[in-house]
Amino acid sequence: MTEALLIVDLQHDFASPDGSMAVEGGMAAAQVMLEWYGWAKHREIPIIMSRDWHPETHSSFKQYGGQWPAHCVQNTRGAMFTIPPSDDVIVITKGTDATADQYSAFHDDLAAILRAKGVQRLYVGGLATDYCVKATVLDALAELFHVSLIREGMRAVEGTGEMAGKEMIKAGATFAMDSAEAQGILDDISYKDYRFILHEERGELWLHIQYDRLDTFTGIDGIGYARPWHISRAQTETGLVKTAFAAVKLVEEHEAMEAFKYRDVRPFDPHMPLAALIRAERTKEAFQQ
Ligand SMILES: [Zn+2]
Repeated sequence: MTEALLIVDLQHDFASPDGSMAVEGGMAAAQVMLEWYGWAKHREIPIIMSRDWHPETHSSFKQYGGQWPAHCVQNTRGAMFTIPPSDDVIVITKGTDATADQYSAFHDDLAAILRAKGVQRLYVGGLATDYCVKATVLDALAELFHVSLIREGMRAVEGTGEMAGKEMIKAGATFAMDSAEAQGILDDISYKDYRFILHEERGELWLHIQYDRLDTFTGIDGIGYARPWHISRAQTETGLVKTAFAAVKLVEEHEAMEAFKYRDVRPFDPHMPLAALIRAERTKEAFQQ
């Protein structure tokens, strides 16, 4: 599935502590989004950054009858991006009409641009959860894109943005997998002597399986490590658990084959999957011929 990163309104007036509409935790969200920006660059997937870009007399400003302090006025420091975009970033400019507010990044051709690039899933973060992020996400879902919310990469104007989060999830968005959260889920899985270890490298998540094993060649007890499995950031909690068990199944099949390779005994293991037993039996026959 082709993926893209969409960063909503990460601009000084929202993110910086001295911004005219500073959102609490804005810089922490920016730090998280910077990591995702690096991840998207490394993966060479499209990056879209939206920006509020108001004329000085915008109708959303208090002195012109609106509800907000003046913010993100065109060509001022407050309107600058917190993460400076490179030339290949798709910049979506909104709020230029003095008479109308525009929260969503989905206008003009954004949906068509994304479809032309074959994008099906958007990872979304930015500011603020309960206004521009929410409006953008709801429009993205209405345009039938899959949406993974970067929970730590967004902050709300009011409170924690929990209500807005629930609304987005109800509309069909899911949370992007966070490495600490994923490790917590894996720590809760208990299966024989297997340990599930997650590590993050350049924003990619990898699952390692560590298990006690008897080296069938030397007969010495030791620790085995399975090759790492890639875990998609779009993975859900249930999906992660399923992947972990599928990986264990492969490890067990592999171990069963190894065991039969060198020993003319059939280790009795009630947990061994039937397919592994059959395969191991065939391997044993092949080995003896
Ligand atoms: Zn605005």
